Amino acid sequence: MIDNSMKIEFLSKSENEAFARVAVAAFVSQLDPTLEELTDVKTAVSEAVTNSIIHGYENNPNETIKIEVYIEGNEVKVIIEDHGVGIENIEKAKEPLYTSRPDLERSGMGFTVMESFMDSLEVESELGKGTKIILEKKFNSV
Ligand code: ATP
Ligand code: MG
Repeated sequence: MIDNSMKIEFLSKSENEAFARVAVAAFVSQLDPTLEELTDVKTAVSEAVTNSIIHGYENNPNETIKIEVYIEGNEVKVIIEDHGVGIENIEKAKEPLYTSRPDLERSGMGFTVMESFMDSLEVESELGKGTKIILEKKFNSV
C-alpha cells in the first residue's frame, strides 16, 4: 500500500539538478531520515538526473525529466525518467569506470554510486526511446 507519492517534471537544464535533489529530499524528509540517509538519496538522484541531462539529452536543455517518488512504510522508491537516446548495453553501462564520454571527463562511476547509496537500482532503457532509473531505499531510523 502506497502511503504517499509525488511527481515533478522539469526541463533538462543543469540548474535543475540541484532543484531535483532538494525536492526529493524535502519530500522524503517526512520519514525522518538520518542526515546520512538523506544525503545518500540526494547523491543518487543527482547522479541519475545528471545522466539524463548529459547522456540522455546530450545537454539539450529543452527536454523534460520526470521524477516520481513513492513512500510505503519506511521505504522510498524514486523513479527518474527521460525520453532521450537510451542505453544500448545496460550491463556494460553499469560497470564501474565505464563511461561513453571520457571526452567530457566523466569517471563512469554514476551507477556504482547509485547502487552503493541505495538498496536497489533498476535500469530500464530502450535505444531512441529513453531511460528509466528505479531506486529504492529503506530508512532504518523510523
Ligand atoms: P560519471 O557519472 O562518473 O560522471 P558516467 O555518467 O559516464 O560518468 P555512469 O553514470 O555510471 O557514468 O553511466 C555510465 C554510462 O551509461 C554513461 O557513460 C552513458 O553511456 C550511459 N547512461 C547513463 N545514464 C544514461 C541516460 N539517462 N541516457 C543515456 N545513457 C545513459
Ligand atoms: Mg553519470
